Amino acid sequence: QSILSMNSIEVLYDNVMLAIKGVSVQVPKGGMVALLGSNGAGKSTTLKAISGLLKAERGHISRGEIKFDGTDITEMLAQKRVEMGICHVIEGRRVFEHLTPDENLTAAAPMGMSRSELSVQKDKIYDYFPRLAERRNSQAGYLSGGEQQMLAIGRALVTQPSLLMLDEPSLGLAPFLVAEIFGILQKINREEGLSVLLVEQNALAALEIVSEGYLIENGRVVMHGTAEALKSNS
Ligand code: ADP
Ligand code: ADP
Repeated sequence: QSILSMNSIEVLYDNVMLAIKGVSVQVPKGGMVALLGSNGAGKSTTLKAISGLLKAERGHISRGEIKFDGTDITEMLAQKRVEMGICHVIEGRRVFEHLTPDENLTAAAPMGMSRSELSVQKDKIYDYFPRLAERRNSQAGYLSGGEQQMLAIGRALVTQPSLLMLDEPSLGLAPFLVAEIFGILQKINREEGLSVLLVEQNALAALEIVSEGYLIENGRVVMHGTAEALKSNS
C-alpha cells in the first residue's frame, strides 16, 4: 500500500518550461525511496509538486494526479499538505541562524501543540541527533553544516509528518557526516514507521539506506528498481 502515489505528473514553469514530463512515483507506507539523477533532471520539481511549493516559483502541475494516503492533493494548498503530514526539507538547510536549535524547534512546532507535547517531541529529536542536543542552546548560525542539516530535519520532525521529503541533505557534507545523518534517518524510518522520499545526487550513499529508487533524467523516470538492482546498474 502506498502513502504517496504520483501519476504521470507534468510541471510547467512560467507556462512554457516543461520541467517534468509525466513522472510517476510511488512511496510505500513506511518505505524509504530515493529519487536519483543529475543536476536539472527534475528531482526538486518532483518534490515541490508533492509539497505544493511550485506556486512560489511560478510553476504549476499541468497534467497528472497526486494522491496522499488515498486523498487527491494535486491542487491542495501547501499549508494544508503540511497539516496532512507531508513535510519537505528544502535544499540548503534553511534554519533561523540567529535563534538556537531549541528556539528553531519551538518555532517549527505546529500551532496548537501543547508545551508538554513540544517537549516530548524535542526530547525525541535530541535522542536521535545527540550532536544537536549538545548544541541546543548555541546560536544556529554557528553550527557546522552537518549540525544545521540535522536541525533542518529536526524542524521537519517536530511537525510529526508521515511523509518526510528531503532535498539533497548530503550536499557539501563530509562523508562521515552523510553516513551519520543517513543512518539516523534509517533508524527513524524503522522505529517510527516514517515514510521517506529522498532526493540525492549522491546515489551510492542514498542506495545504502533506501529500499528502492527512481532514476530521473531530463524530466522523465528512466529507471525504477530495488536499491540492489540500481546499485548493480550504476
Ligand atoms: P534537479 O532537482 O534534478 O536538479 P530541478 O527540478 O531543479 O532539477 O529542475 C528541472 C528543470 O526545471 C531544469 O531544467 C531547471 O532549470 C528547471 N527549473 C527549475 N526551477 C525552475 C523555475 N523556478 N523556473 C524555471 N525553470 C525552472
Ligand atoms: P565543519 O567543518 O563541519 O563546518 P567547523 O570546523 O566549522 O565544522 O566547526 C566545528 C565545530 O565548532 C562545530 O561543532 C561548530 O558548530 C563549532 N563552531 C564553529 N564555529 C563556531 C563559532 N563561531 N562559535 C561557536 N561554535 C562554532
